[in-house]
Amino acid sequence: MIELESYLQGAWVRGSGRASTLVNPSTEAPIATSNTEGLDFGVALAYARDVGGPALRAMSFAARGEMLRALSRCIHAHRDELIGLAIENGGNTRGDAKFDIDGASLTLAAYADVAAELAKEAPNGPVLLDGPSLPLGRSPRLVGAHIFVPREGVAVHINAFNFPAWGLAEKAAVALCAGVPVVSKPASSTALVSHRIVRLWVEEKLLPPGALSFIAGSPGDLLKHLRGQDVLAFTGAGTTGAHLRAEHAVREHSVRVNVEADSLNAALLGPDVGDDSEVMNLFVGDVVRDMTQKTGQKCTAIRRVYVPADKVPAVLERLRERLAAIKVGDPSREDVGMGPLATAQQLADVRAGVAKLAAHGKAVFGSAEAVHEKGYFISPVLLHGERPDPGDAVHNHEVFGPVATVMPYSDAADAVKWVAAGGGGLVSSVYSDDKAFVRSVVLGIAPYHGRVTVGSSKIAGQAVPPGTVLAPLVHGGPGRAGSGEELGGRRGLAFYMQRVALQGDRALLEMISGQREEKA
Ligand code: NAP
Repeated sequence: MIELESYLQGAWVRGSGRASTLVNPSTEAPIATSNTEGLDFGVALAYARDVGGPALRAMSFAARGEMLRALSRCIHAHRDELIGLAIENGGNTRGDAKFDIDGASLTLAAYADVAAELAKEAPNGPVLLDGPSLPLGRSPRLVGAHIFVPREGVAVHINAFNFPAWGLAEKAAVALCAGVPVVSKPASSTALVSHRIVRLWVEEKLLPPGALSFIAGSPGDLLKHLRGQDVLAFTGAGTTGAHLRAEHAVREHSVRVNVEADSLNAALLGPDVGDDSEVMNLFVGDVVRDMTQKTGQKCTAIRRVYVPADKVPAVLERLRERLAAIKVGDPSREDVGMGPLATAQQLADVRAGVAKLAAHGKAVFGSAEAVHEKGYFISPVLLHGERPDPGDAVHNHEVFGPVATVMPYSDAADAVKWVAAGGGGLVSSVYSDDKAFVRSVVLGIAPYHGRVTVGSSKIAGQAVPPGTVLAPLVHGGPGRAGSGEELGGRRGLAFYMQRVALQGDRALLEMISGQREEKA
């Protein structure tokens, strides 16, 4: 059995206590262990700050871009091996695994491009300008300006179990682009893929010493060692996020924190959409994909489906038909469309969640009962909530599995009210060609979301599904979703950098920010 090691202070190390076991969720067979007991995270963070930080800050944006490109290419070059590990440890189908692994290499490549762009704006170094300078006095010499400089701490990244490759890469890409060293901790249960990626990066010497550390297993007292220049980016359950925010060192040192948490993402079908239209196909395809891709274990997956009351029977029929065609089973098989849930805990949580939803909705497809004797398999579960109420579990409890509920609405204002009842989400999608409806609904739900996708006939053939997070667009959401924001191209760098206002003589300020050469 593989023993996963952590990569701290430039060396692979293992703990000395009781190991936790990673299993294959299709067979329940143990495949690896991890153990961090006794590892000194205080020394590890100090090494990242003192060795990795200066090394990264000394690199130009152009050099950081080349580094990110090399990280991306390395993942791509080992794609098949990583897909195999994702099937084994994550219960991913090949398609699920590609979504995670290609998402990782594409996000790193996207930030290689961002760095290359920034290199043109700031060829001399780590300072980024934030907008033009502003006159402050009567003379044009006295100005104010804003610049961004990299923070001199470490970025601690704590990730959820569902995207071991993408979670590692999407956070690391932005921090490394900004010039901040990373300590990355994947969820223990599915750490095999991220562990392998970091091993490959280390073996190929793609990063300067201290730029990336990796923790395989329990976080122990990691967060106790955070300080005021550090940042903490977390993805996972809202309850864990709240716990991390309340950590003593985080409060004591006002550590900057970003939380990406639960989300009850909605899909909303417009009243104008015809039964056999392209937009209807797009809508049905998105709902079914989100229910079954990664076995519904996607933070962006559609959980609530709002449909004009008179269209509910037809929509239920279409969804049932499509779901029935999806084979659940061994994810390594080409004909299988949905694999198991990732862990025994996930299975128990999803079952309990479906029971909660069933108090206000009727199951019209599937159930959370076991599909196979071994493994954490269930079928997709579609519910119909005939009379939604804002207090229902469907509006306040995220079931992190292949589960969605269809509910009726009456008009645009009613639709906005229901979508907003989710308490803040990562992404919701609206499907309609009715311009007035789309405008009023999108603007109505926008304050409750980090992203809204609009599906209409003009783009139906090329639409990117709402569940796909894109590096150039922000990812995050208010309220229940954690109130965080990641990615968004260069916007993401702000989290890792300090914005400083400067005031003084224009020529001096331009020299400081690197816009003007320093004359001897
Ligand atoms: P989780 O149980 O909250 O765990 C997330 C991470 O936090 C894991 O790495 C876990 O480590 C770590 N952790 C737990 N307690 C900790 C502590 N006291 N100190 C430091 N780290 C700690 O969530 P999950 O079950 O992995 O993921 C499912 C949840 O994530 C769902 O609710 C989903 O909505 C959310 N999610 C959100 C997004 C988003 O972008 N918004 C993306 C994906 C998932 P161990 O594994 O070692 O316990």
